[in-house]
Amino acid sequence: VARAWARNLTKEYGTGATAVTALDDVDVDLEEGRLTAIMGPSGSGKSTLMHCLAGLDRPTSGTVVVGDHDVTRMRQRHLTQLRRTGLGFVFQSFNLVPTLTAEENITLPLDIARERVDRAWFDEVVEAVGLRDRLSHRPGELSGGQQQRVACARALVTRPALVLADEPTGNLDSRSAGEVLGFLRRSVDELGQTVAMVTHDPRAASYAHRVLFLADGRLADVLENPTAETVL
Ligand code: ADP
Ligand code: ADP
Repeated sequence: VARAWARNLTKEYGTGATAVTALDDVDVDLEEGRLTAIMGPSGSGKSTLMHCLAGLDRPTSGTVVVGDHDVTRMRQRHLTQLRRTGLGFVFQSFNLVPTLTAEENITLPLDIARERVDRAWFDEVVEAVGLRDRLSHRPGELSGGQQQRVACARALVTRPALVLADEPTGNLDSRSAGEVLGFLRRSVDELGQTVAMVTHDPRAASYAHRVLFLADGRLADVLENPTAETVL
């Protein structure tokens, strides 16, 4: 089942002689139970694709659906709501609130959406991410890898249709990166989540079920069950 998909997705910036086609007729399916890596050189359209999936950028043409929602037709207010509970975000720089504990950071999206914490799901996520004994720590008391795992738990706490991760291991040493990637993979394999991550790191991409390669705004290649060697 595709939890999120895009059809004939085209995004142009500017008009006339200075127009740039950031995405050119791209089709993407992000399926349940699949971790998808998005790779490609700088300027190939990765960020634009993520922004279109998140409803942060309006495509010039084409359709984007996340969960049950046609993002391309949604009004601003509903898009904001979708981003709060229907999507989870993981950033390169963690973006945790320094004054809140790990637990408070993880449940923050629910507070903002004024939704109750589903304790069983919260426990499952915390267990999977290996943070049980770190819940009362603040970000400053955690390693980079632990902070990113808190950020991953925060992205999953609402059971979003789709988690979007932008270079989730870009600020981590290779051991911490492995822990974060192992968790993202398990969140897909064992918790049934759907995750898409932009990465430049072939080892990170090797954790994915599928790699999409963008080049000049087009889907240039798709690789199933990659290894670090096949990605390179
Ligand atoms: P990537 O994330 O793969 O580096 P981007 O999606 O950021 O690629 O960019 C794709 C193309 O769109 C590039 O040529 C970039 O210069 C252009 N672009 C991205 N954002 C804007 C913008 N806001 N205005 C004009 N051009 C943009
Ligand atoms: P476990 O499943 O024992 O908790 P990990 O947390 O290390 O193991 O990994 C979670 C999942 O990530 C594994 O089931 C596997 O699919 C994938 N994985 C682990 N290590 C690698 C690796 N080096 N390269 C690619 N995928 C890996």
